Amino acid sequence: MKSHIVKIVVALAVVAEVGLSGVSAQQAPAKRNFEAEIQKAIESAKTAAGFEFQGTLVRTCLLPQSGGENTSDNVPGYVTNPASAPARDTWYAEPAKVFDNLYFVGGKLHSAWALTTKEGIILIDTIYPYNSEELVIGGMQKVGLDPKNIKYLLISHAHGDHVGGAEMLQNRYGVRVVMGGPDWDLVAKYPNRYKAMAPKRDIVATDGMKITLGETTVNIWLTPGHTPGTLSYTFTVLDRVKPVNVAYSGGTAFNFVKNTPDPGIKNFQTYIDSQKHMAAKAAATGATVLLSNHSEFDNAVNKNRMLAGRGNGPHPYELGTDSVQRYFQVMQGCARAAQLRLEQKASEGKP
Ligand SMILES: [Zn+2]
Repeated sequence: MKSHIVKIVVALAVVAEVGLSGVSAQQAPAKRNFEAEIQKAIESAKTAAGFEFQGTLVRTCLLPQSGGENTSDNVPGYVTNPASAPARDTWYAEPAKVFDNLYFVGGKLHSAWALTTKEGIILIDTIYPYNSEELVIGGMQKVGLDPKNIKYLLISHAHGDHVGGAEMLQNRYGVRVVMGGPDWDLVAKYPNRYKAMAPKRDIVATDGMKITLGETTVNIWLTPGHTPGTLSYTFTVLDRVKPVNVAYSGGTAFNFVKNTPDPGIKNFQTYIDSQKHMAAKAAATGATVLLSNHSEFDNAVNKNRMLAGRGNGPHPYELGTDSVQRYFQVMQGCARAAQLRLEQKASEGKP
């Protein structure tokens, strides 16, 4: 107890000292006020988040994030021993028809989407190896879609929660798999990490690439940051025959090396530039719907429930163009705040 009090007193003394140096910093205008800049960036993210994007705000602005490069190559526990996978009630969600030609076949935390066309199905993401069979294959069957009709599989990025079912789908149905070049490299580099999830190298995505099936085209945009090969998309769906434009964001958390100013500052800039790139594409296409590969970030599961009681009301996924832009502002504001912390570190001569 006593040592706690001592610690608190020391902490207060530190605060007082920081406060004083803050005053002297104000007197020397050349010195940057990093704290004020960081607070401003976080405030801009909070304002942009509103009620709609609280999940994204919490994940990117408020939760602590890992900082180093993951060079481990271990077989995940849920692959070695499937019985150790998380309990079904932590991830199971009902599939849903969300638009005339877009079906949710994901779970409580991760999304997978089936985009139907006259010539077959474009599947977006596959969730984990342990639940792709039930959520993706089973979900499609439940809403009346035949998984044999999947022609293309787009993988937002090579993490187990998105690429998990890709090997199975490629082997079983011969689907064409599209992934970013650097993420194909990751899959090749870490055979144990991707055991049971590694599709054979197929289509390497490029910025502006179009995947067209029947009357439907998905435009692919390279948005490196979360992983070096993260992909995002724009495409059009139909809501009771009315065309609606979608922006799909393929990576959210700051999952890159950022524990040191070099290369952290550069990596954050890559991430921020990608958000600007996608925001511009969303604006250019007039996107009013924001989809994420995590149902916790676009509230997909709740919205699917709201859809059932929609009647003649507005579509719960249609946010409007301004809200879609605000999503990318949340990610930019949080990334800028974290980048500023590294700039502050660098200005203090820290490595
Ligand atoms: Zn990821």
